[in-house]
Amino acid sequence: MNAIVIGGGIGGLSCAIALRKVGWDVTVFEQNETLIENGAGIVLAANAMRALKSLDIAKHIQEEGTPIGVAELRSWDGNLLASLPVDKQAIRYGTPSYLIHRGKLQSILHSHCLHIGVSVHLGKSFAEVDENNDGVEVRFPDGTSTYSDLLIAADGYRSKIRDQLFGHSSLRYSGYRAIRGIGSFEDPRYPLAAGGGFEALGKGARFGFSHLGNGRIFWFAAINEPEGQRAHFTPEEHKKLLLQKFQNWYSPVPSVVEATSTSDILSHSIYDLAPLSNWSKGRITLLGDAAHPMLPNLGQGGAQAMEDAVVLADLLKNKPIGTTLVESLKAFEKLRIQRVSKIVRQSRLMGRLMQLESPLALTIRNAAFRVAVDKFFIARLHPVVGYDPPIL
Ligand SMILES: Cc1cc2nc3c(=O)[nH]c(=O)nc-3n(C[C@H](O)[C@H](O)[C@H](O)COP(=O)(O)OP(=O)(O)OC[C@H]3O[C@@H](n4cnc5c(N)ncnc54)[C@H](O)[C@@H]3O)c2cc1C
Repeated sequence: MNAIVIGGGIGGLSCAIALRKVGWDVTVFEQNETLIENGAGIVLAANAMRALKSLDIAKHIQEEGTPIGVAELRSWDGNLLASLPVDKQAIRYGTPSYLIHRGKLQSILHSHCLHIGVSVHLGKSFAEVDENNDGVEVRFPDGTSTYSDLLIAADGYRSKIRDQLFGHSSLRYSGYRAIRGIGSFEDPRYPLAAGGGFEALGKGARFGFSHLGNGRIFWFAAINEPEGQRAHFTPEEHKKLLLQKFQNWYSPVPSVVEATSTSDILSHSIYDLAPLSNWSKGRITLLGDAAHPMLPNLGQGGAQAMEDAVVLADLLKNKPIGTTLVESLKAFEKLRIQRVSKIVRQSRLMGRLMQLESPLALTIRNAAFRVAVDKFFIARLHPVVGYDPPIL
């Protein structure tokens, strides 16, 4: 059996590895000429690490990423609200969360694909798909086409394939912009050996900082703004904006931004999608952000794409005799939609809480974080990060 994966992001490459592991021939088509994404890190929570273990990738993340040993929540001016018990969580889940450069993660996944015999075609953009009882035909803008038994649409949050299968669905603007950067920065309060860092919360804005490994740090800022307001800004203008906006914040914040070269700054308006009731049609299924774009407030978009990959491959591997591929894809969406939709909603709620603007609401929220951090960040997230994906 063979599968085509459209999209060489985290979801597409994870899925290619998972399917190859259970015996499929897999070809990936990625529109970009390279897979390297600069300027950002990604947190891999325990559920992501477990999915990556199932894909034989976790050991590479442990070598190249940084375990998160400190996770503080602070007010914008530096008062400590809570320190998350990440050590206890690491023991409970059998692994800490890791922070890794996105480009590094993609290159680990890409190399592993090549190592196990997945074909990855870069610079090849998908145009159209046709599907019948015997298979799927994928056509490319250069007039070429190819056939397979199964098509995985891992073409990201603005998925063309999703539009072709289910009609266009409008993304929902979150109300804020994320600006991310990577720089070299040292602060004795946050020694590299400890890993991790802090998140500082202000009025309609927050700033997070964490060690990325090799002496570098990753930071992000989320700032409330009307949709598209600063879409035309250059990285220089974003840096200037941040230096102005965060000038009086907790002391490392302005210096962290200052220490970042503009070529390492990324800026995006943030969107999600109301949960879909179907991900598959015939022999085609959506996966990752194509199926369930979510706001990044729980750091779960990539993790859920990895879980999708492992669960799908496990279902295909253990397909009862007589079950068709189409039925397996239906079983896949049935297993996954409920869990992921809940996480989409939780991420949205967490965003509202973190981006509050009313001074009274901020005071109440900060007080609640001080006394009940477990409730907000540990107990509520246990079903998310405590999930154990199948071993392939
Ligand atoms: C600010 C921010 C912070 C985040 N932080 C975290 C975090 O800490 N932890 C976490 O788990 N998740 C995080 N996420 C979410 C995570 O980045 C995504 O969920 C994840 O990257 C989704 O992977 P994907 O492969 O489904 O989609 P993508 O990464 O978008 O990949 C889609 C790929 O498809 C390709 N493609 C698109 N169209 C075509 C076409 N027509 N033909 C061929 N190729 C095509 C694209 O070029 C791209 O390479 C964050 C997201 C944001 C925005």
